[in-house]
Amino acid sequence: MSSLFPALFPALADGPAAGRPALRFGERSLTYGELAAAAGAVAGGLGRARRVAVWATPTLETAVAVTAALTAGVTVVPLNPRSGEKELGHILSDSAPDLVLTAAGPELPAPLGDLPRVDVDPAVRAPGTLPDDRARGEDDPALIVYTSGTTGPPKGAVLPRRAVAATLDALADAWRWTGDDVLVHGLPLFHVHGLVLGTLGPLRRGGSVRHLGRFTTEGVARELNDGATMLFGVPTMYHRVAEALPADPELVKALAGARLLVSGSAALPVHDHERIAAATGRRVIERYGMTETLMNTAVRADGEARPGTVGVPLPGVELRLVEEDGTPVTAYDGGTVGEIQVRGPNLFTEYLNRPDATAAAFTADGWFRTGDMAVRDPDGYVRIVGRKATDLIKSGGYKIGAGEIENALLEHPGVREAAVTGEPDADLGERIVAWVVPADPHSPPGPEELAEHVARRLAPHKRPRVVHHLDSLPRNDMGKIMKRALRRG
Ligand code: ATP
Ligand code: MG
Repeated sequence: MSSLFPALFPALADGPAAGRPALRFGERSLTYGELAAAAGAVAGGLGRARRVAVWATPTLETAVAVTAALTAGVTVVPLNPRSGEKELGHILSDSAPDLVLTAAGPELPAPLGDLPRVDVDPAVRAPGTLPDDRARGEDDPALIVYTSGTTGPPKGAVLPRRAVAATLDALADAWRWTGDDVLVHGLPLFHVHGLVLGTLGPLRRGGSVRHLGRFTTEGVARELNDGATMLFGVPTMYHRVAEALPADPELVKALAGARLLVSGSAALPVHDHERIAAATGRRVIERYGMTETLMNTAVRADGEARPGTVGVPLPGVELRLVEEDGTPVTAYDGGTVGEIQVRGPNLFTEYLNRPDATAAAFTADGWFRTGDMAVRDPDGYVRIVGRKATDLIKSGGYKIGAGEIENALLEHPGVREAAVTGEPDADLGERIVAWVVPADPHSPPGPEELAEHVARRLAPHKRPRVVHHLDSLPRNDMGKIMKRALRRG
C-alpha cells in the first residue's frame, strides 16, 4: 500500500499566490490563480480516464494539460509531435491511453485517430475547481516518459509521484531554487528535461516559466535582460550561445547577469564551456540524469562548475561506481572507470510492459544500472566518460572514453562538430574512429593532422585511426548525437 503524499504543486492551492505569474508562452501567460482554474476545468473533463496522452507541443496548452492530469491523479504519457508514425504507433499501443489532450486546432496523425480527444483551452470560460491531490499515493504513477531511443527503441519509464517531488526538491536545495526564480526555457516538453525540470520544477517552487516556443539566442538575451534568473538548455543550445557571444553584447550582459545557467541531457563540450566563461565571466553548471532516474547529480549553486564534471550526488541520491567485474570502485583517483549505479527516491518503478528489461536494469540489492561510465575526482565530483554501449572504446588494452577525444577534436579550429566511436580492429581489438564536421567544408583538416592534434593533447594511443568527414552529425530532438546511426552509416 502506498502512503499518502503531499500535493505536487502547493502554490496552486495557495490563495496569496494566486496573482503571481506561473507560465508564459510567447504572448500568452497565466497566473497561479488562472492556471488553477484552467487546469481545474480540464481535470473536470477527464471523466473516468486513468491514463492520458498529451500531444506535447511547446505551448501553454501542454503545460495546462499536464498540470490538470497530475493534480487529478491521472497518469500522463507525453507524446513527441515530431515522432514518426511508427514510433507513435509503438508508444500508443504500449501505453494504451484512454484519451489524448491537445491544443485546439491541429489535426492529429493517423495512429491517434481513434483515441477520444479533449481540446485544452487555457483561456477558460468555465473555470473549474482544481482537484485536491493530497489523497494520492507516493507510488502512484505520475508520468510514463519514453526514453530518447539513443541506444535502442524507446522504453516507457513509469515515474511515481514520489520521484517527481523528490527530484525537484533536491534540485531546489542544490540550486537554492525559490518562488522568485524565473526560468527561461526553450526545450521540448515531451522529455524529462523540458517537462519535469523545466515546467513542473518552477511550478513546484511557486516560481515561473517563460518558454521561448523555439529556442533563439535573441530570446535568451531578451528574457534574461528582462528579469528572468535562470536558463536551462541542452549542449547544442549552449554551443549556439558560445558562437553568438562575440558579436552580441546583449547576450553577454544577459548571461553575465543570470543567477544560474544549467546544461544537461548530454555532455557540454569543454570548448563551449570555456568560451562562455571567457566571454561572460560565468560558468555553466552541469547536471546529470536520465528518464529512469530523473536527476542524479548536479553542481550546486555554491559549487565549483569544473568543466567536464556533472557535480555531486543530489540530496537523497546514493551513487556508486562499479567496475566491470562487479567490484565497487573505492579509489577516487580520477582514473578508475566504473558504471554509475544509483538508488534513491528519484527512481522510476519499472519499464512499462517490460519486466525483463526492468529486472535486467537493477542489481539484486536495488541499484539501478545507468549504463553510463564515469570516474570521480578526489573530492567526489563525477566525470562522465560516456555510455557503456557506445562511448567506451577498448583499444590496445586501454579503455578510452569517446568524450575526451571529442573534446580534444573540438579544440581544433578546423572542427565544428565531432563524434568518436570504436570499430572492430584485428590488432587493437577496437580502433578509434572520428566523425568530423569541418568548419570549412572546402578545406577539412586531414586525418594525420587530427591524429597528431589528439596525440599531442591527450596521448598517442588516443589518436583516431580513421577520420570521416560529414556535413552534419545525426542528432535527435534533444540534440543528442545518435551514434547508432553513425555506425550503421
Ligand atoms: P535510450 O535510453 O533510449 O537509449 P537516452 O538514454 O538518450 O535514450 P534519456 O533518458 O533522455 O535517453 O537520456 C539519459 C542519458 O543522457 C544518460 O544516461 C546519459 O548518457 C546522458 N546524459 C544526461 N545528462 C548528461 C550530462 N550532463 N553529461 C553527459 N551525459 C548526460
Ligand atoms: Mg538511456
